[in-house]
Amino acid sequence: ASIAVTKERRAGETRVAAVPETVKKLIAAGFSVTVEADAGLAASYLDDDYKAAGATIAKTAKDAVGAADILFKVRAPEADEIAALKSGAIVVALLNPHQDKASLDALAKKGATAFAMEFVPRITRAQVMDALSSQANLAGYRAVIEAAEAYGKAMPMMMTAAGTVAAAKVFVMGVGVAGLQAIATARRLGAVVTATDVRPATKEQVESLGAKFVAVEDEEFKAAETAAGYAKEMSAAYQAKQAELVSGHIAKQDIVITTALIPGRPAPRLVSAAQVASMKPGSVIVDLAVEQGGNVEGAKLGEVAVTKNGVKILGIPNLPGRIAADASALYARNLFAFAGLFLDKEGKFAPDYEDEILKAALVTQAGAITHPALKA
Ligand code: NAD
Repeated sequence: ASIAVTKERRAGETRVAAVPETVKKLIAAGFSVTVEADAGLAASYLDDDYKAAGATIAKTAKDAVGAADILFKVRAPEADEIAALKSGAIVVALLNPHQDKASLDALAKKGATAFAMEFVPRITRAQVMDALSSQANLAGYRAVIEAAEAYGKAMPMMMTAAGTVAAAKVFVMGVGVAGLQAIATARRLGAVVTATDVRPATKEQVESLGAKFVAVEDEEFKAAETAAGYAKEMSAAYQAKQAELVSGHIAKQDIVITTALIPGRPAPRLVSAAQVASMKPGSVIVDLAVEQGGNVEGAKLGEVAVTKNGVKILGIPNLPGRIAADASALYARNLFAFAGLFLDKEGKFAPDYEDEILKAALVTQAGAITHPALKA
């Protein structure tokens, strides 16, 4: 079977869905690979290296897609790419299925068999394909780097002849994959770190990273994790208690990093304008949920919002895109592993649509949107 990889064309999307290393592995597994010219350039991967790995370079996206059985992308394919797809072709991408209904409709209309990498289940066998985790991990790292850059003071404590520089106080809200990496990164830079989440399992994880856990630990908290390991949407009463606890804490922080998400729901509001106003001038907030509606009141997608009291709220979209080489390499490995599901035991191309992972990730097939969570 043939795989096409095209250049991402959404504004600011610097990642690419295959890197020379994964092209080599895909070819060794029996696929052929065509890469659109300059597809990897923004992530520092050159056409010559794809060629050396065995890929064919196509001049345009249309040339690459037209002959392919499978299209690998980071984001949903563009209209002209969908138009160029062979009937029944497979598409694998971060389709943003809960928010980007238009792309799903277009893929269904074309008769594409589309898989949303967001829906890969969090089972052990699928860990190597877990693109949400691979990208969230880098986003958490990058959020701290961005915060450190925007912060006019140092992260570590420093004792100098001219006096002592205080360590920054960093508060991480939402301790999933991104939050854990944010804690670890802030600790490595020498900050004093606290963190909060609604899932009880995170307490031990936070403490094992040398940070302090802050949360309302009531009965609702004890039951806040779903069987799938995600957070539930918390009651208004819980959120009010959480807000009160957090209020006193936030006023003392220098940097706040918010990462809270609930699958298929708008991001929970964790920081109010009044709480932002309670922070010291020069403080920095990074809202990683800004693309899902934001955790922080006043965060603006694609902007640095500066409040009257001099607090910067960073609403950076696509943080993994700011670490494009590594983000691409990890995502490409996720896709390589996923492509293995299209092969039978003898290595022949024969996708088993009854496979638990393919079944969970399938969103369109034979002209229709098939995923139960997406049907109107
Ligand atoms: P996510 O991106 O869905 O959400 C980020 C964090 O926000 C979560 O920890 C969530 O509990 C938290 N949150 C939600 N509402 C909140 C609120 N009101 N206040 C504070 N925090 C709130 O989460 P994720 O990073 O995808 O991880 C979710 C879980 O899945 C974690 O336990 C993670 O370890 C687990 N996981 C398991 C696997 C696997 O087993 N293969 C892979 C990846 C992640």
